[in-house]
Amino acid sequence: MKAANPRTGELDYEFPVSSREDIASEAARLRTAQVDWEAMGPAARAAVLSKFADAVEVHAPVIAEALTIDTARIAVAWIEVDGLVRNLRKWAARGPDLFAGLPSEPEPSAAPGFDIVPRFDAYPLFGAIAPWNFPVILSHIDAVPALMAGCAALVKPSEVTPRFVEPMRAVLAQVPELPLAYVMGGPEVGQALIEEVDYACFTGSTGTGRKVAEAAARQLIPANLELGGKDPMIITANADPEWAASIALRSSIVATGQACQSIERICVARAIAEPFLDALVKEAKAVEITYPDPQSGHIGPFIFPPQGAKVQAQIDDAVAKGARVLSGGTVEQLGGGTYLRPTIIADVTDAMVVMNEETFGPVLPVTIFDEIDDAVNQANDSEYGLSAAVLAGSLEEAAQVGTRLQAGAISLQDGALTSMVSDATNESRKSSGLGPSRMGDSGMLRFLRRQSLIRQTANALPIAAYAEGQR
Ligand code: NAD
Repeated sequence: MKAANPRTGELDYEFPVSSREDIASEAARLRTAQVDWEAMGPAARAAVLSKFADAVEVHAPVIAEALTIDTARIAVAWIEVDGLVRNLRKWAARGPDLFAGLPSEPEPSAAPGFDIVPRFDAYPLFGAIAPWNFPVILSHIDAVPALMAGCAALVKPSEVTPRFVEPMRAVLAQVPELPLAYVMGGPEVGQALIEEVDYACFTGSTGTGRKVAEAAARQLIPANLELGGKDPMIITANADPEWAASIALRSSIVATGQACQSIERICVARAIAEPFLDALVKEAKAVEITYPDPQSGHIGPFIFPPQGAKVQAQIDDAVAKGARVLSGGTVEQLGGGTYLRPTIIADVTDAMVVMNEETFGPVLPVTIFDEIDDAVNQANDSEYGLSAAVLAGSLEEAAQVGTRLQAGAISLQDGALTSMVSDATNESRKSSGLGPSRMGDSGMLRFLRRQSLIRQTANALPIAAYAEGQR
């Protein structure tokens, strides 16, 4: 299978696709290794995760270099590799404390004569299926706490961004006691992985998430889904318009808008709409693309070039229905890469695709509201409920509005904070996801199954206790 370089458009990387047999034998190997891995206990597992973190840190330049080709981003590639190291160190520190806090003492049962001793064991084989937008972070975000819990982990990164796997495998070879492996390929490899594992975590689009949920249901295994979003940002009349414009822009276009928690709908109070839009357009026009010099500028090409055509179609649909483009608006082909400058669209209506479907590009559709109730209703009028943001005159005012929004994580006085805060426990709403939070302690605890040892502390009943004719 070949992968394209998003900067040149050339299919310049070839990698072998894992066969059904490869996946089965990798799964069997991991299942065997998992027995000792779980038995070694939380402290010893944490030590191995720390050792892996050290090895990733030493080899960070090669991993970041491969990831930079995959994603056409330098700064964000380093954020991802540093983020993996932080993820490993965080769970190595937190995991043993969580195990120490699990109940272990016998509890009396409601039925007299019995007590119950709780035990916990891990799902033996965990599987992850990851998307292309943050390949390193999202391939490991669930796998690391699963490993800490005592699972072995089988990970399928996106076939669009496969290059980082080779250096990661080299790092992994230095920590052979860690039961982690990667399988490579597209949808069929994802489906085969689901057939092998005991617990699946999927990060990707809502459409694919449904297929993963169906496959997991056939296997009768739990599936946690982290899916798409159409995150709203409400800006009240008491917010400073220039401050709000700067936050709205960053939250919408960072990583070329290819982030699930990107702000994709902006709803601003009429009283400050004009200065807000003026400042937003001014800031947007100052943003530079990372072409021709990859070392300079703010936003790069689309990682997956077909995404450019999808985003252009949403812009064209909005314009055809009466919207005004205030900046950007046209996808450009430069040196083989597919770019879009920050695109602000005014006069948008609910009838436009850009207000309903996930865009996954640097596009900011702006609507104006008179009453805060209208803004809240509009923000909630979506198939999605991933996250949301409120900018207001104070944290208190922002919280009053934020608690009315139907989403898992609400950023107050800033935007898209889930990318910066990994311990904010939250569950996505509506079509944005399913299952316990990957953030916070539940990130690890969800991989533990509870077993009860039910103890007879009195006399066991004889069959005579069930003899007919006693009543
Ligand atoms: P995608 O759904 O196309 O693919 C994701 C992964 O699923 C890939 O590894 C792909 O090979 C695999 N896959 C595809 N079809 C499959 C099938 N039938 N069975 C099993 N696996 C299959 O997503 P994408 O385009 O790579 O990523 C972008 C999407 O991911 C956006 O919708 C974005 O919002 C979402 N996302 C969500 C989060 C979150 O935490 N909620 C984070 C990042 C990205």
